Parts: sequence; C-alpha cells; structure tokens
Amino acid sequence: MSSVALECRSLGYPCEWALRGGSPQELVDRARDHFRCAHGMPDLSAEMLGRIDGAIHPV
Ligand SMILES: [Zn+2]
Repeated sequence: MSSVALECRSLGYPCEWALRGGSPQELVDRARDHFRCAHGMPDLSAEMLGRIDGAIHPV
C-alpha cells in the first residue's frame, strides 16, 4: 500500500510538523486539526485546501 506525506513548512509555515498517512483525505483531516491547534486557523479556506492538496506527495 502506498503512503503519502505532508510537511507544514511546504505550505510556508516555519513549522516542523510533518505527517504520513495512507490517503490524501486522511492527511487533509489531520492537517485541519493541526492548523486549528497550532496555527489558530479554525477553518481551512478553499485556497488553503488547494495548497494542502498540492503539497501532499507520495513517499
Ligand atoms: Zn504547522
């Protein structure tokens, strides 16, 4: 099974947070929690979701 990864710094934040998961949807859900808790962003904008999609890459 392939996996995918996302690093917060690839979205332009000076942040060491990174995660790996089984599907892009899983990463988006966990990124939503991270942005709420760590970056004070209660909701992800459509633009931010697009940037997250673009930053998710296979590992
Ligand atoms: Zn972060």
